[in-house]
Amino acid sequence: MIAAKGYAAQTKDTDLAPWNFQRREVGPHDVQFDIMYCGVCHSDLHQIRDEWGGSIFPMVPGHEIVGRVVAVGSHVTKFNIGDLAGTGCMVDSCRVCESCQHGLEQYCLNGNSQTYNGLEQDKKTPTYGGYSNTIVVNEDFVLHIPANLDLAATAPLLCAGITTYSPLRHWKVGAGHKLAVLGLGGLGHMGVKFGVALGAEVTVLSTSPRKEADAKKLGAHHFVVTTDPAQMEAAKGQFDFILDTVSAEHDYGQYLALLKVDGTHICVGAPPTPSALHAFSLIIGRKSIAGSGIGSIAETQEMLDFCGENGIVSDIEMIDIKGIHQAYDRMVNGDVKYRFVIDMATL
Ligand SMILES: [Zn+2]
Ligand SMILES: [Zn+2]
Repeated sequence: MIAAKGYAAQTKDTDLAPWNFQRREVGPHDVQFDIMYCGVCHSDLHQIRDEWGGSIFPMVPGHEIVGRVVAVGSHVTKFNIGDLAGTGCMVDSCRVCESCQHGLEQYCLNGNSQTYNGLEQDKKTPTYGGYSNTIVVNEDFVLHIPANLDLAATAPLLCAGITTYSPLRHWKVGAGHKLAVLGLGGLGHMGVKFGVALGAEVTVLSTSPRKEADAKKLGAHHFVVTTDPAQMEAAKGQFDFILDTVSAEHDYGQYLALLKVDGTHICVGAPPTPSALHAFSLIIGRKSIAGSGIGSIAETQEMLDFCGENGIVSDIEMIDIKGIHQAYDRMVNGDVKYRFVIDMATL
């Protein structure tokens, strides 16, 4: 086994603290990379607090992981020692179900292996994430990171990036489309960057007028304050797509009214409770409400390559691992532009 160290939650009621643990030896198809940076995702906090249920402890969170390869297995063909490498939200899948056969391992019907708070495909070995110094992953679930990008700022692409890129590609959002991005946080700011890069006319929908300048700085063409009835009235029937990144409760009907005929409202943020939806908000104008979760490994690589070609990274604030609790407090209050990234050299 390989000795590893990280920050772990021992129970749902304890704070993250240093923890020594073991990674598996590098198998024939495995890549080991030393972790240089790990992004901080809101789901990290939900899971260490067991807010979604079923959490596995001890838990080492983190699924926006980048670093440099230090060992490769004898059969590995995709990576060499010294390469930059990244891993996102999953580290394996069953590989035989219909989803996996179609290259949609994010929707593996037998349950993919989440990078942390999950189980390997043996369904008994727990997985440990990126708030740690090193990781061993099957090469099929390791991504190449473009060398021209700021490495720390690429980490959030592995979750926040692919979560917003995948639906925009699936629904072929691009030139000639009017795209609204609902919410301007870790996900939303990536949705704006990708929407603009894909050629869409992008509007940010936000409750806070003070975010307008930031939205424009990110490339958004327009801004609508959703708490202003006059602005919402003027925005009715305007958009081909809404990319909904909000994970607090909100009224979907209010936003469906902003779609054109045949428009699609795409959920990537998940509020904690079910929402009421009147069928008329879909019937009038043949509208759709849809969802999307992360992206496949192939699409994640496509997204990273697209970012390399277009110079796209996340806007980040770097923190020491010791500052993680303060970072969580600020994240909960929406006080970050737009993603915290842990400098793993501080571990
Ligand atoms: Zn995430
Ligand atoms: Zn599968």
